[in-house]
Amino acid sequence: MPSEPELGKCRLCGASLRRTFVDLGMSPLCESYVAPEQLNQMEPFYPLHVLVCEKCFLVQLGEYVTAGRIYSEYAYFSSYSDSWLRHAREYADMITRRLRLGPQSLVIELASNDGYLLQNFVQKAIPVLGIDPAANIAPHAIKKGVPTLVRFFGVETAREVLARGKPADLLIGNNVLAHVPALNDFVAGMKLLLKPGGVITMEFPHLWRLMEATQFDTIYHEHFSYFSFLTAEETFARHGLTMFDVEELATHGGSLRIYARHSEDEGQPATPRVAAMRRREQELGFNRLETYTSFEGQVKETKRKLLEFLIAARRAGKSVAGYGAPGKGNTLLNYCGIRTDFLDYTVDRNPYKQGKFLPGTHIPIYAPEKIAQTKPDYVLILPWNLQDEIVQQLAYIREWGGRFVVPIPEAAVL
Ligand SMILES: [Zn+2]
Repeated sequence: MPSEPELGKCRLCGASLRRTFVDLGMSPLCESYVAPEQLNQMEPFYPLHVLVCEKCFLVQLGEYVTAGRIYSEYAYFSSYSDSWLRHAREYADMITRRLRLGPQSLVIELASNDGYLLQNFVQKAIPVLGIDPAANIAPHAIKKGVPTLVRFFGVETAREVLARGKPADLLIGNNVLAHVPALNDFVAGMKLLLKPGGVITMEFPHLWRLMEATQFDTIYHEHFSYFSFLTAEETFARHGLTMFDVEELATHGGSLRIYARHSEDEGQPATPRVAAMRRREQELGFNRLETYTSFEGQVKETKRKLLEFLIAARRAGKSVAGYGAPGKGNTLLNYCGIRTDFLDYTVDRNPYKQGKFLPGTHIPIYAPEKIAQTKPDYVLILPWNLQDEIVQQLAYIREWGGRFVVPIPEAAVL
């Protein structure tokens, strides 16, 4: 086979990257919503070409856009989803009991967003610190009583926090590992910031679920890395951190919650779930290149099925509206070439997005009331990870015969 050109270096192990996981073509930054006055301006598109490292099997996207460009004004406010808030509350209750946290403890969260998670610890009188690079979101956290340091996290920030305060009994990083371009520096910073005997928990979308359900729309420029349990374990091990427990969660289409400690801390023996997960991923082929290179075919088939559905619906004179304006929707719509020719508009509960347009496709975003006013025949659920919640909230569309459509993996009509 002719050798493919080198496409960069692996951000975990430094090996040359040559193999494609999936190439989604050119796409705009998925959180760059377009204001009406920007509609006639040019809009930057960047490659969405995901690679897999032949050596450590980390699935990754090149840093086509610097993280500073992405995060300086980040539109994602965690608090706009009911199920996500409940998930955060349940986690806080569970981990407080499991680690016996109290007023003498310190909980630090990396990528703490608007404080939606840490506020639960504040209510229990447990001291917290949030660290998040988005300057426009921090004031919302501080209003909730969550002290927030506006910084990118890594070794330097860890040292700064330690110089002013103390290490963490519990260090949380939910849905952040994927967003980190300098992966090794980030995990090295966690090693520094964790107290001896302390515990790290992290949640991240499980690569296995992404591949199994063809969730290619969870790929966007803000997501630099996509982890199996095996590569996550390898990443931590390189920095003297050992995973001692793992849970599978339904969030974000299927996530892992991992528990890690200092490797030298023998106080937390590994649960049988760790060995079981490792074995299962080996059986599924996550240590073989072919497992990764066959994914692209599945993605193309999902695109064909969604377009077939939309073409048939529009030919039959049906109207289709979207629900939600999440990042994943923008990857899906841009890759599939779906604009207002197929989707009249979308709606979102987040007032920050209302009145704007989706990047690239320029589909208008309205407040949710628009659906009751226009009575579309189909509502395409873009944040399919919240589909149960959305189907419940919008049950009224049944009154006029409306149906829901879930785009992934094959345009299912509910
Ligand atoms: Zn590698």
